[in-house]
Amino acid sequence: MAAASHRNDPTTDPSIHDLIAGRPWLRYHAMDGLLLDGVPLAAIADAVATPTWVYSAATMRARCRALTAAMTETALDVSTHYAVKANDSLAVLALFAAEAVGADVVSGGELLKARQAGIPASRIVYSGIGKSAAELRLALAHDVGQINVESAEELAMLSALAAADGITARVALRINPDVDAATNDKIATGRATDKFGIAHHEAAALYAQAASLPGIRPVGLATHIGSQILDLAPYRDAFARIAGLAQTLRRNGLAVETVDCGGGLGIAYRNEPAVSPTALAAAMKAAFHNLDLRLAIEPGRWLVGPAGVLLASVVLVKRTAQQPFVVLDAAMNDLVRPAMYDAWHGIVPLSATDALAPPRPATVVGPVCETGDTFARNRALPPLAGNACVAILDAGAYGAVMSSTYNARPLAAEVWVDAERWSVIRDRQPIEALWQRDRLPP
Ligand SMILES: *Cc1c(COP(=O)(O)O)cnc(C)c1O
Repeated sequence: MAAASHRNDPTTDPSIHDLIAGRPWLRYHAMDGLLLDGVPLAAIADAVATPTWVYSAATMRARCRALTAAMTETALDVSTHYAVKANDSLAVLALFAAEAVGADVVSGGELLKARQAGIPASRIVYSGIGKSAAELRLALAHDVGQINVESAEELAMLSALAAADGITARVALRINPDVDAATNDKIATGRATDKFGIAHHEAAALYAQAASLPGIRPVGLATHIGSQILDLAPYRDAFARIAGLAQTLRRNGLAVETVDCGGGLGIAYRNEPAVSPTALAAAMKAAFHNLDLRLAIEPGRWLVGPAGVLLASVVLVKRTAQQPFVVLDAAMNDLVRPAMYDAWHGIVPLSATDALAPPRPATVVGPVCETGDTFARNRALPPLAGNACVAILDAGAYGAVMSSTYNARPLAAEVWVDAERWSVIRDRQPIEALWQRDRLPP
């Protein structure tokens, strides 16, 4: 993703028609407007108001099965661990539990939510650079399948905690392969200067040390080079480095049973070319096929991102000397990706009639008191009247999970559609909840 890719260019941006054509779970009906898996989104907006997140359960399931099938076709032994931080509602986690998928968690809270949703502890991988002693104790108490350790300091801490309880933790060392995944700066994680993982040149010595520490059984290596990756090259580079390291360790007489290849598979927010699961699987096979390893992947965004939309209503359209401002009732506190990562999201009207009107450039903003509260600039959109509804596309990952109540705006409702029926999977936050935790000092 080039640094400037978020800038709008009405001459090359996908049209509303292109956006819908590329997402078969969405479809316009002349009378009912935009449908998600056959359900009119306007009916959901009417019933639960806006802003509201809506997810297609069938799309999440289908993507999960497609990814698993791509891995199975390689004839490698690959387990999938859904990255809970992408979308952590219990309904979504339970969906993946039912697909026999494990979880990648990065906090004690995510660990408990994954367990609550029925994901077995044995299928949980615990990642993160700053697990507290309490969180490590929790992971040990639940006997999670694998703890990915990111530093010598963390390894020492975990060894002391496990040994004190007389138990042994299965540990993978997360390696920083020093590759640049060419994604947004804020979500690249595999460069030597990023905070993540153990430096490649220190890994062999630390692995040997891990093998001698009480309470630790080193089982393998892990890596995760970043998020929203649209190019295979950085994966190939990272996997080659990890495979080389695994061979070095084995030559040193150390056992390496597993390699966790991380997540990061990007999605086509702008209908751009992306890496397919099949291509990722082929890169894994090329690097690891002759090493007799168990492999793991930790996809988040790819599984859930395209399956979700954020419904919003137009509050008003503000005319100016330049292009008009379309002011929505959703804001950066709901979906922060445009403000935080300069992310591009498709925006389409719910009304089929609106969708057919000739587009004109507009700036789409939220009501929050920050200039950064902008969903799109110079975006070709049909004229929208006050009360028109829009869907912001590909909002299923890093959407609701990153919401805040900034400007005292309650967290939006979440709905999913399954088998042509919709249900609320997370209630809109009641307004009183905004001050429920506050205390007036005596
Ligand atoms: C965030 C994260 C993932 C998931 O990344 P996606 O880009 O959503 O696939 C996987 N593994 C780790 C360690 C992560 O931190």
